[in-house]
Amino acid sequence: MTQVAFIGLGNMGGPMAENLLKAGFNVTVFDLVAESVDKLKQAGASAAESAQAAVMGADIVVSMLPASKHVKSLYVDASGVCDSLQSDALIIDSSTIDAQSAKDVAAHLTAKGFNFIDAPVSGGVGGAKAGTLTFIVGGEASDVERARPVLSAMGKNIFHAGAHGAGQTAKICNNMLLAVLMAGTSEALQMAINNGLDPKVMSDIMLQSSGRNWCLELYNPCPGVMDNVPSSNDYQGGFMVDLMRKDLGLALDSALNSQSNTPMAAVANSLYSIHSAQGNGQKDFSSLFELFSAKK
Ligand code: NAD
Repeated sequence: MTQVAFIGLGNMGGPMAENLLKAGFNVTVFDLVAESVDKLKQAGASAAESAQAAVMGADIVVSMLPASKHVKSLYVDASGVCDSLQSDALIIDSSTIDAQSAKDVAAHLTAKGFNFIDAPVSGGVGGAKAGTLTFIVGGEASDVERARPVLSAMGKNIFHAGAHGAGQTAKICNNMLLAVLMAGTSEALQMAINNGLDPKVMSDIMLQSSGRNWCLELYNPCPGVMDNVPSSNDYQGGFMVDLMRKDLGLALDSALNSQSNTPMAAVANSLYSIHSAQGNGQKDFSSLFELFSAKK
């Protein structure tokens, strides 16, 4: 049976590791937060005292960490896990980080003879719990195939976007568009309300018209229009404003590096930043709707 090490058991990593256990993998886990490790231990994982101990003997290592600096410190820094990895280990980093950092980590690990794919996810905490994440992968095709059984236990779609770093680039392009769509959808719905229209009726009209988009279909930002979405739960749960800001920051860095024109992302970044500065950083990103509200 494939031995998997899982590092980073937060909102996403915790349920992802649980799904690996449910699929029958032997999983050894590590997180800086002891309670998160204990929770996985109760679900059947082996608990490691350190990241180095977790990766020892692992065929596949999965990491789900907050940002680039955490990923680099795990795989590139001298204090990281490189000296503890099994010689033919495959490393899957599912954190959302900048593409250049993913390429740097890939270059460092492959130079030492290890295999690496960047495999950021779309689908949020709900998708992580349900095992329905979409993995957007960069790396060698043979490594994507080797990762497939492990990824399939945590998600339902696996896309091979291209070489190392391409997974991160594709993920960030998608989230850049999502940020813009949520802002535009909120703006349109608020203008309809300000002109006396019912937001539910307006949403139904746009869903059958050319303004149709994912936010209207599955994630309406106006409270009361749709059940079981963050807007109808005081914007709790879902995907935090500050995580969207992080992704927009990565998108704007990528735009600068690739000399891409992204004025819509720049405006969206300002909007989410203002919204966060008003104390909404921990709310779901669809709460941007409130920024457009006439009655404050
Ligand atoms: P989180 O903050 O809940 O979890 C991160 C975990 O990493 C924490 O438990 C933390 O203790 C642990 N950690 C940090 N440094 C570590 C180290 N050196 N060794 C071991 N553990 C360490 O974050 P999250 O919401 O699970 O997100 C993880 C990644 O997934 C981020 O890159 C995020 O952008 C991305 N992502 C999140 C969502 C979402 O909806 N939350 C959706 C898609 C992608």
